[in-house]
Amino acid sequence: MKSLSERDQKHLWHPLTQHKLHPKMLGLVKAKGAVLYDEQGREYIDGISSWYTCMYGHCNDAIIAKVYAQMQQLDQVVFSGFTHEPAIALSEALISLLPSNQEKLFFSDNGSTSTEIGIKMALQYHHNKGKKRSVLLAFEDGFHGDTFGAMSVSSLSVYNGPFEDYFIDVKRIPVPTDDNIGRLLHELENTIDLDAIAGFIYEPLVQGAAAMKMHKAEHLEKILKVIKSHGVLAIADEVMTGFGKTGRHFASDYMEVKPDIICMSKALTAGMLPMAVTSCTQEVYDAFYSDDIAKGLFHGHTYTANPLACAAALAGIELLKSDDIQKNIAQIIQWHQEFDAEIKDHPKVASTRQIGIIYALDLNIVMERYGNVRDKLFKHFMDSGVFLRPLGNTIYILAPYITTREQMQKIYNSIKEVLNSF
Ligand SMILES: *Cc1c(COP(=O)(O)O)cnc(C)c1O
Repeated sequence: MKSLSERDQKHLWHPLTQHKLHPKMLGLVKAKGAVLYDEQGREYIDGISSWYTCMYGHCNDAIIAKVYAQMQQLDQVVFSGFTHEPAIALSEALISLLPSNQEKLFFSDNGSTSTEIGIKMALQYHHNKGKKRSVLLAFEDGFHGDTFGAMSVSSLSVYNGPFEDYFIDVKRIPVPTDDNIGRLLHELENTIDLDAIAGFIYEPLVQGAAAMKMHKAEHLEKILKVIKSHGVLAIADEVMTGFGKTGRHFASDYMEVKPDIICMSKALTAGMLPMAVTSCTQEVYDAFYSDDIAKGLFHGHTYTANPLACAAALAGIELLKSDDIQKNIAQIIQWHQEFDAEIKDHPKVASTRQIGIIYALDLNIVMERYGNVRDKLFKHFMDSGVFLRPLGNTIYILAPYITTREQMQKIYNSIKEVLNSF
């Protein structure tokens, strides 16, 4: 029998992959808790929760039970004209978890569609009010997904070259720092025509794809105040930050000023099934509520509010709110702080940062070689039984909430080996 790794190469085209340079995929056969198992029987601790999804652990029994029960009751139905218990129960659970101004939920399938919908809501909100606002505002280093609207508001990437001519109109501002915040606010008030801007889309506090780059809530809050005073809708992309990772349910919970629209996916369904939600305020919803049919939001995906995905999301929220998971989160935050104290002054460490269970460190290495170093780092981690995906010269940990002390120690040790041997 050929291995998965060999059979894969015949018909499959993988995401974010140049197959000529990287022809070989690792065949995985099983996942349980914080551990992935490959076809050779080797184990890897999932140090990035499979792209920030399976926060309560892979193949979680409580989630499986709820999805299995739902599977036997109602699997998939049209969500236009029909409704069902899992979607309603999820709406009640999610609205009580979200910042208090959120009132309505719109379902879709993935993070990119959730931001795409957020963007469309913002553009049509103004259109329905008879105003033309056709520009979006975004952070320079943001990432919001791979569909056209989402790509347009993401930071310019060399990989997006073939599409740039077709992007929607976006004005970019730098991420706030202690140094630039004064200038940034001045620029927002004086050199950007905020009255032409429909919405400001941002990853609150942590920019995942930008290598876990972090900014302060107090700075972001000042930006939100300015844009909102000009009628610009605040669209928080919490696809990565949502559901407890920052130490609060949502990163937006660190601020008094609330977003008008929130995009969620990834950990929403606990890594069991794909689904996304875009939530909004009553005020946004009301701009679409009309006797005029054309003022509705004519956007819909076939699998909208899939009952199985709703059941997984409900089970995930129940776990998130449990004392056990909240204790685990507090515990991991403390472990990371202890690890940070141990390594932050190491000569190979340029800087470190942490919010909640997200921990990142920048290596003090020569940048021109980093393509190479990144591959070497990845191989080192995998060889030591740890799945981490360094971004440039940044190593970050975003392990599931159920990661044990021993498993986390293995991740820390593997990073320490890098510091002492690279
Ligand atoms: C992953 C991600 C997306 C895109 O989600 P997909 O499910 O991959 O389409 C959008 N925004 C943020 C902040 C993300 O981390």
